[in-house]
Amino acid sequence: MNSRSRRGGSAVLGVAAIGAVAAGGVAASQGHVDPSLPISIGDSADTSSVHTSTGLQQVAHAGASLHTQMIAQAGQQEAQAKARAEAARRAAAERAAAAKAKAEAKAKAEAAAKAKAEARRKFLAGWVLPVHNFWISAGFGESSAHWATTHTGLDFAAPTGTAVKSIGSGRIVEAGWANAYGYRIVVKHNDGTTSWYCHLSAITKASGTVVPGEQIGRVGATGNVTGPHLHLEIHPGGGAAVDPKVWLADHGLRT
Ligand SMILES: [Zn+2]
Repeated sequence: MNSRSRRGGSAVLGVAAIGAVAAGGVAASQGHVDPSLPISIGDSADTSSVHTSTGLQQVAHAGASLHTQMIAQAGQQEAQAKARAEAARRAAAERAAAAKAKAEAKAKAEAAAKAKAEARRKFLAGWVLPVHNFWISAGFGESSAHWATTHTGLDFAAPTGTAVKSIGSGRIVEAGWANAYGYRIVVKHNDGTTSWYCHLSAITKASGTVVPGEQIGRVGATGNVTGPHLHLEIHPGGGAAVDPKVWLADHGLRT
């Protein structure tokens, strides 16, 4: 065997390998170079001539079959390219839809957060402290010889005559003498909470609706007290008294 036929055989094997892979991998793994090796592509009637011909003839013969193969491959590649383009188009559409959904969700969340903040702002704007320029002289739950039980309110110490204002909108449901509480006003707010304003020296509004900050009385020392102050009680839902300091803080008001 000369070097020419070896080269030819080598080239044919390369082509044969392509054909063999396409045809099911018949000769691809044989691993040795033999120019007389029958190749499996083309018409079987021509195989004998392949046996006896030189490498160049084998290349020419294989080339004809390769042409058919290439056309088939080109078709295949075109179909694959189309499929890839379609997949890419679909992926892009999905990405665009996802981005749109994300942007919509973000806008929705922002609108909800804005509405919530606005509602919170309005809610906080609806509540005010009952007295300006005060100091806290007694907290909720404290004990003293002055009280039959532990302290059920928060004491805002201020000079007699200082304006006492409704902490929120609502309606005055009670105004008058209340024994140890002295002169007292009870306001029922729109959320059902009642607020008590006690030890008043004067009741300046005894009935009707009130708005946040509207004056209803004046600080005094009526009832069971040692000095002038406003005793404020908070009864959520009209029930048991809670710590006004905490309740006011929850409504954005520091004492
Ligand atoms: Zn008190």
